[in-house]
Amino acid sequence: MALGLVIFGRQGAGKGTQCEYLIDHYGAVHVSTGDMLREAVDQGTELGREARRYMDAGELLPDDLIVGIVRERLDQPDVVERGFLLDGFPRTVAQAEALWEVAGDRIDAVIDLQVPLDEVKARMLGRGRADDTDEAISRRLALYEEQTVPAIEWLGRKDHLVTVDGVGTPEVVSQRLIAAIDAATHR
Ligand code: AMP
Repeated sequence: MALGLVIFGRQGAGKGTQCEYLIDHYGAVHVSTGDMLREAVDQGTELGREARRYMDAGELLPDDLIVGIVRERLDQPDVVERGFLLDGFPRTVAQAEALWEVAGDRIDAVIDLQVPLDEVKARMLGRGRADDTDEAISRRLALYEEQTVPAIEWLGRKDHLVTVDGVGTPEVVSQRLIAAIDAATHR
């Protein structure tokens, strides 16, 4: 059976790097809403033009819009066949509820990659992404606490929540993640 994983982590927690290790290890498809939106922005599609306004400000896109995009992606054949590592979604309780409704039975583990706030702030300032202004970073971190932490709690009550300490070298953290996921999914 294809593996279904959801990964949470504050911006700057090293989630992007860890996702690369995980998709390599498990062969699942990386479904990153941030990457999908950045691609739409680069291609100048209608979605991209709308998304950009929110992304530059560090705001979240409307739930309905993002839910539709994810729902479509999860139904595509590569994802159905190889499973998924969902990254950047859900970010609100409403998104978590929608995910549970459309794909709850396909989720094997919900991972929370934890890195303290001070550490992520330092890491993010060194990152230099186009939408990483100071205000956008602060706004994203605030929204994470307000909206995403409750979504983690909501999903954690539904499914196997795996909490992993994200402080350490990328290699050490990835070993921790794989061990925790294997234990949670009995692999
Ligand atoms: P990320 O790369 O995951 O940090 O996403 C970059 C930006 O895309 C976010 O700051 C939001 O503006 C937008 N975005 C990505 N995923 C979502 C989501 N699940 N809900 C709403 N907005 C999102």
